[in-house]
Amino acid sequence: MPELPEVETIVRGLDPLVRGRRIEAVWWSGQGLHLGRKVDLRGLRAVAVGRAIDGVRRRGKYILIDVDADPAGRGRDAGAGIIIHLGMTGRLRVQPKSAPRVPHTHVVLAFAGGDELRFVDARRFGWVTPGRPIAGDAALAALGPDPLTELDAPALAAALGGARTPIKAFLLDQRRIAGLGNIYVAEALFRVGAHPAMPAKRLARRADELLAAVRAALASGIARRGTSLRDYVDIDGERGDNLSALLVYGRQGEPCLRCGTSIRRRVDSGRATFFCPRCQRR
Ligand SMILES: [Zn+2]
Repeated sequence: MPELPEVETIVRGLDPLVRGRRIEAVWWSGQGLHLGRKVDLRGLRAVAVGRAIDGVRRRGKYILIDVDADPAGRGRDAGAGIIIHLGMTGRLRVQPKSAPRVPHTHVVLAFAGGDELRFVDARRFGWVTPGRPIAGDAALAALGPDPLTELDAPALAAALGGARTPIKAFLLDQRRIAGLGNIYVAEALFRVGAHPAMPAKRLARRADELLAAVRAALASGIARRGTSLRDYVDIDGERGDNLSALLVYGRQGEPCLRCGTSIRRRVDSGRATFFCPRCQRR
């Protein structure tokens, strides 16, 4: 599943391709996305058709496409735009209208001039919704702070202090911190030397170290244009290079880069956890 660095890479690639372009039409395949839900095609058209894209940005794992204000000037749709979540296998491509649409193309924004922004999703766990305004979207409103741009160590320390949950579950909880998933949580916990099952509150005094570890893990991913385990590709269809730079995720049985001990893998509630039993003690 794409996490913050993969989404950030896509946003940085997408923004210059679509900024300033006017949306002429919105198309939907008719197939339900995220858990079979219908796409709000009427809402997407109301938000997008006839508008130009002001820019593309990221919050957590969400891609936000801002459109310019209502041309009628009434300000009714100020802050409106389109919200995209890639789910497990979602991809975005900008291609000429004349290029054939690949299988699993589910939502298309057609631009004046002929190009299309295409949302392709084989497993259909992703979603595309109108935001009227974006800031009013319930899923976005429920997100915690973004670890790169919003979270600070005192706020993290306060949140950790009241949390009995294991640190891994704490970091994965999008309501606490937006954007982390299984890969970058494993990397951050290795960097800070904390066992994934350690109670979150025991890291409260080390919140600054933990935040630095989270940011370092994310920065590594962004610098290498994301981690491609299976499906993730950037806006140009290229795989990211971060897989070979991972410190602990996916390295079970290989020697710890710090101490040489064999990296362990275990599965908790269906999710794999990777850690060094010597460097990351409970
Ligand atoms: Zn180690």
